[in-house]
Amino acid sequence: MAAHVASPDRVVYVLEKNERFGQEISSRHSGVIHSSIYYPHNSLKARLCVEGNHLLYELCRKHGIGHKNLGKLIVATSDEETVQLQQLCEKGNKNGAKGLEIISKRELKNLEPNVEGVAALRSPYTGIIDSYSLMGYFAAVAKDNGAQIAYRTKVVGIEKTSDGYKVTVEEGNTSRFSFITRILINCAGLYCDKIAELAGIDIARAKYMLHYCKGEYFSVGGGKNRLVERLIYPVPESNVTGLGVHVTLDLEGRMRLGPSVEYVDSIDYAVDNRHKQTFYNSAKKMLPFIEYDDLEPETAGIRPKLQGPGEDVRDFVIREESDKALPGLINLIGIESPGLTSSPAIGRYVADMVKNILM
Ligand SMILES: Cc1cc2nc3c(=O)[nH]c(=O)nc-3n(C[C@H](O)[C@H](O)[C@H](O)COP(=O)(O)OP(=O)(O)OC[C@H]3O[C@@H](n4cnc5c(N)ncnc54)[C@H](O)[C@@H]3O)c2cc1C
Repeated sequence: MAAHVASPDRVVYVLEKNERFGQEISSRHSGVIHSSIYYPHNSLKARLCVEGNHLLYELCRKHGIGHKNLGKLIVATSDEETVQLQQLCEKGNKNGAKGLEIISKRELKNLEPNVEGVAALRSPYTGIIDSYSLMGYFAAVAKDNGAQIAYRTKVVGIEKTSDGYKVTVEEGNTSRFSFITRILINCAGLYCDKIAELAGIDIARAKYMLHYCKGEYFSVGGGKNRLVERLIYPVPESNVTGLGVHVTLDLEGRMRLGPSVEYVDSIDYAVDNRHKQTFYNSAKKMLPFIEYDDLEPETAGIRPKLQGPGEDVRDFVIREESDKALPGLINLIGIESPGLTSSPAIGRYVADMVKNILM
């Protein structure tokens, strides 16, 4: 975001409570460049994902950021799921996802001989990215454009003043200081609702309260990674809490299953080995070559969800809060998947908001 917002004619500070960038949501995800199949038409998620997909491939090619345009298959394992595939395909086409096609059982076997299914939706522009290099690239561009990045600097207070915001920060858990800014952008990931609250927003009323939703991953060993070439997904649940336990491959070709979907009360990244059977059962249907003993607990991430358990899908909130008497405060709340894919498009979107405020 700072890479897009920073410019030599304004002073931009990035405040980060950790010692480095990318220690929270952005290092605990699937690393997939999505193509915008699942999201409601015209939502920010749908629009920013399509734009982000295009921008990310362009950035990666131009600046040597590791990526692979592997493509993805959403696999139906019953006739009922085939109907859902058609609906997903229509939704994706409407969103502007490129090149989607439904393929038959035979075509699926030709592409992925080791995957079992009755049909599949093929998404040729889905891929994977080295997100750590991407973050490094964004940090370097932000600095080149004049932004200063302050690590170990935690925002602990926000007070509205006549012409902006007095922001109080804690540096290295010891010293405190404050400064005034006209524009404040809240993109605090798992803590963005707390920051909005610090700024004086009634987050229950604004519907900004986050629900933490854990996603665990299990690695797949036994040389099984060579048995598929693409990202393999099941047909998702109807309210798209998650995309279903799927197969992701990283740039080194390692295979893993995940992420699962579990609403939790606190942030804890431990992977519960008791969930192994559930992972195995859901993967086995599409990937008969997987054996129980191939799976090992790997890692977990926490989604910052606005959608509570059993509730309808919620869109990203990206808004300037003038109508809450907080002009110049830009909140980004609930930036879950496809937040990585959308990142360059979100940066542009927020930079335009900043331009409008300064006009
Ligand atoms: C399991 C999982 C799988 C996912 N898979 C994908 C995928 O395949 N493709 C995709 O496009 N997206 C995916 N996503 C979504 C994507 O990872 C996120 O949308 C994105 O990483 C969010 O980035 P962020 O900068 O908003 O949050 P973060 O990376 O968490 O950054 C927020 C930063 O704010 C800092 N901060 C918080 N509070 C304060 C404070 N008080 N003071 C100072 N600093 C503070 C934090 O330390 C943190 O570094 C996935 C997410 C999860 C959880």
